[in-house]
Amino acid sequence: LALREVRRAAHGGVAFFDADMGRREDERRRIRRALMDEEEGMALTLHYQPIVDLRSRRVAGFEALARLRDDRLGWIPPGRFIGIAEEDGLIGPLSARLLAMACRDALAWPAHLGLSFNLSALELKDPATAGRILGILDEAGFSPARLELEVTESAMSHHADGAEAVIDALRARGASVSIDDFGTGFSGMARLGRLRFDRLKVDRCFVSRLDDARQRTIVRSIIALGHDLGMAIVAEGIETPAQSRWLAAEGCDFGQGFFYGKPRPMDSPYPARNVGVLCGKPA
Ligand code: C2E
Ligand code: MG
Ligand code: MG
Ligand code: MG
Repeated sequence: LALREVRRAAHGGVAFFDADMGRREDERRRIRRALMDEEEGMALTLHYQPIVDLRSRRVAGFEALARLRDDRLGWIPPGRFIGIAEEDGLIGPLSARLLAMACRDALAWPAHLGLSFNLSALELKDPATAGRILGILDEAGFSPARLELEVTESAMSHHADGAEAVIDALRARGASVSIDDFGTGFSGMARLGRLRFDRLKVDRCFVSRLDDARQRTIVRSIIALGHDLGMAIVAEGIETPAQSRWLAAEGCDFGQGFFYGKPRPMDSPYPARNVGVLCGKPA
């Protein structure tokens, strides 16, 4: 830090050391180390959120969501540490580590439950990604047929060409690929014409505004569009019984949100409410 201070002074930009910036640099370095499992006092884990079949009201699977907790700072939002991993070239190894953890957890669940896993935009443009993922599954003994990979719309608009190859290779081995946060990107329609997805996840921002007639029209159209293109529809961010009822009545296939269960660690009691069957903790 002292060196940096001198360097900055030399460049004539800042003559004194910015304590706030130093703290942020330090935090960033610790997060980087934690992602590689080299930092004491920081733990990288996965939480799981149920995805519910809206017709049968049974849990169909769980989405793995990465969590980083620091003894001093508390929870660090995934947006922050995933962003750091992407900027610092660590996303490949981080994602590999998370997927191996998720497979290990999911192998203990009943076999009909699927595992959904988020891929970063940067992984999509790397042609080695599909092979790396399939290698991790093979090593864990986890069937690709139980895995769904979620990629955001914005990820595809940046790396469309590479994405197509990665997505095709994964689907060829039986994994599903879904388009996440649908409706928030700018070129969703163009991508939908070219790339093959198994599921479409309607972004939470639409579900939270279903009291508005125009928003309902948009969601109805997204459901029809997705179905016509051969995709199943998942609604994200369901928080109320009214949202759940309306979406089910409109033919939405799956739902996810605090109404059914918040993301929780797998070793706590089975994290699903408001589903028709009590499955008990996956054993
Ligand atoms: P996402 O994949 O769209 O995940 C859904 C996010 O919505 C999660 O936030 C979840 O906690 C939150 N959520 C679910 N249901 C509700 C609800 O009913 N109400 C509200 N208000 N929120 C709800 P989270 O866990 O903070 O993750 C944020 C984003 O970070 C994820 O969005 C995903 O894009 C990314 N992310 C998380 N884990 C990973 C990971 O392992 N790898 C990568 N590449 N990205 C990840
Ligand atoms: Mg997701
Ligand atoms: Mg999402
Ligand atoms: Mg999201």
